[in-house]
Amino acid sequence: MEDTRSVKLLQDKLLEWYGRHRRQMPWRAEEGQSPDPYHAWLSEIMLQQTTVTAVKPYFEKFVKRWPNVRDLAQADQDDVMHMWAGLGYYARARNLHKCAKVVVNEYDGHFPDDHAKLLALPGVGPYTAAAISSIAFNQDYTAVDGNVERVVARFYAVKKPLSDVKKDIKEKAEHLGRGNPSPCDFTQAFMELGATICTPKSPKCVLCPWQTECEGRKKGIAESLPVKKAKSAKPKRDGQIYWVTNDKGQVLVRKRPAEGLLGGMIEFPSKGWDGRDQDIDHDDFQRIGLVKEKVRHVFTHFELSLEIVKYRFSGDLPDSAYQWYKLEKLEDLALPSVMKKVWKMAVS
Ligand code: SF4
Repeated sequence: MEDTRSVKLLQDKLLEWYGRHRRQMPWRAEEGQSPDPYHAWLSEIMLQQTTVTAVKPYFEKFVKRWPNVRDLAQADQDDVMHMWAGLGYYARARNLHKCAKVVVNEYDGHFPDDHAKLLALPGVGPYTAAAISSIAFNQDYTAVDGNVERVVARFYAVKKPLSDVKKDIKEKAEHLGRGNPSPCDFTQAFMELGATICTPKSPKCVLCPWQTECEGRKKGIAESLPVKKAKSAKPKRDGQIYWVTNDKGQVLVRKRPAEGLLGGMIEFPSKGWDGRDQDIDHDDFQRIGLVKEKVRHVFTHFELSLEIVKYRFSGDLPDSAYQWYKLEKLEDLALPSVMKKVWKMAVS
């Protein structure tokens, strides 16, 4: 790896490039403004596994509704889940809410500027802690996300599969960032370089501030890096989902248990795919049809295919977990994406 002088040169080049090309983001402090730790934290939690484009409207709605961490801590959890619906990985939303409460109860509403204390917060792992420490508190940490990993793998022409060398790549990224004069800008610049210049396909090396030093570019192999291991096919699951309506224009829904897949979200009853079968297939329910097309949805660990069966039912609710909900008010519920697909298909 480079000596201190070369690292310093690389840092200066990247910071100078960022100064000219930084994008405006709703969570990013303008030049000369102090970063808001609440904005840094909220955006970093939202950006895990999700793109900037997808996150922007969610971030804006959240800060409009809950302008600071105290407001978010006081929010009803169902409201938080509802606002989050569609962003996926719902455990993040539950931890977000828990974390807001801890920040208010234990730190009087101020995010701690101590890295170890940040790491102990619910939902805050090494990446998020490094991002908050550097972005919000200008401390010497480098946040290593997928963009940074790609830049580093190319810069050092690392030919081993990324999943085998994650630790090494992280160390190399930290080596490139260590001791830089502006950790807040550097960590964002590094991610920005990967997002806008060192892109997964067709990296724009001619515009890159590190083009002279980059081993991947010099060897002509940049675009083929980082090497990915062939993915094994995701297991497939099949099930049935019940679209149950009554004569008052209502549909039957229930809340999922707080923990586990889609925890705390609203669903339509179903069986056969998640080990939580809801058997409504008895005499009181009148089967009225089947939707021809199946709903398909990809989760992190499996692919789901659901057959929608339509029922009519006007008796007593099967148990207290169920409730009737006006069809035109379904928008108000915390429906995860897969349930929104079911809804759309059932009424089309
Ligand atoms: S020179 Fe090209 S491959 Fe190397 S870091 Fe820059 S954009 Fe990425």
